[in-house]
Amino acid sequence: EAKGNGRGRAQLFAGELGDAVRERRMLELDLRMALLNDTGLELVYQPIFEASTGEMAGAEALVRWEHATRGRMSPATFIPLAEERGLIDMLGFWVMRQACAYAVATGLPWVAVNVSPVQFRDERFAERVFEILAETGLKPKRLELEITEGLLLQNSPMVQETLRHLRASGIRVALDDFGTGYSSISYLRNHGVDKLKIDQSFTAQLGKDAEIESIMRSIIDLGRAMHMKVTAEGVETEQQQQMLQEMGCNQLQGYLLSRPLTSERLAEQFAAAGSPAVRRA
Ligand code: C2E
Ligand code: MG
Ligand code: MG
Ligand code: MG
Repeated sequence: EAKGNGRGRAQLFAGELGDAVRERRMLELDLRMALLNDTGLELVYQPIFEASTGEMAGAEALVRWEHATRGRMSPATFIPLAEERGLIDMLGFWVMRQACAYAVATGLPWVAVNVSPVQFRDERFAERVFEILAETGLKPKRLELEITEGLLLQNSPMVQETLRHLRASGIRVALDDFGTGYSSISYLRNHGVDKLKIDQSFTAQLGKDAEIESIMRSIIDLGRAMHMKVTAEGVETEQQQQMLQEMGCNQLQGYLLSRPLTSERLAEQFAAAGSPAVRRA
């Protein structure tokens, strides 16, 4: 009898697991189709501002997926799926091509694109980025790649070489979600990074937690000492903005200043503001 129960539980468990596996498999196929047919995937752009002047500096491209039956899906769900199922290269280069073409079409000063650490396993990664720049006509200095601390932590000579190659062309490298991983000063020095993006979890504590305030001050000072720009993510209040300006943070990004916008909205806003970048285009 006890044996029977055990088997019953095992079957139930296997059944549930089977459902989850099938579900992931179906999502994977849907994502593959979305990429092949170029339907349902879209980029939104969140402007990033100069802290001192309030002018728009550039924008970060953020991918969105409108699933036929599940509705809008968060990148926090489908990026890991794409990484796991071998779709991240296709997705990542789709995003990069769109974002670069958009920057050329609108005259946006620069565009930032998130790059998964998995994409760096391709030893031809840098070459493929250069191909996209050539195809779209975007100058390297108008592209910023956002990488994660985890990538530097691998301390891989191949990653180091790829980053060196990219930066030598004029492409900038920004370290995303800075402070949530384990980067050390030596990793930063070994790899060379142009910008630190302080994670929004730090920004959220400004004005509430004095320790976080001094940590952010230290990060901004570190950035200055190592000739890196520093951007604060997740700026949601006037108080946070003022404190960051006073600390000498270079750039600000967050809902207070702008939510991520559709490509049309950003282009409209940009044109209406009579931005120099638009006049140049
Ligand atoms: P991330 O690169 O750190 O992007 C910032 C995220 O914070 C975005 O969420 C953005 O909408 C959100 N955000 C911006 N300002 C604020 C604010 O003031 N308050 C709050 N609470 N949130 C704010 P999103 O678009 O959902 O993206 C989540 C993450 O998904 C990104 O984090 C990035 O790691 C990843 N991701 C998005 N697009 C891509 C992509 O094209 N490729 C890759 N590899 N990853 C991507
Ligand atoms: Mg990012
Ligand atoms: Mg970030
Ligand atoms: Mg983040």
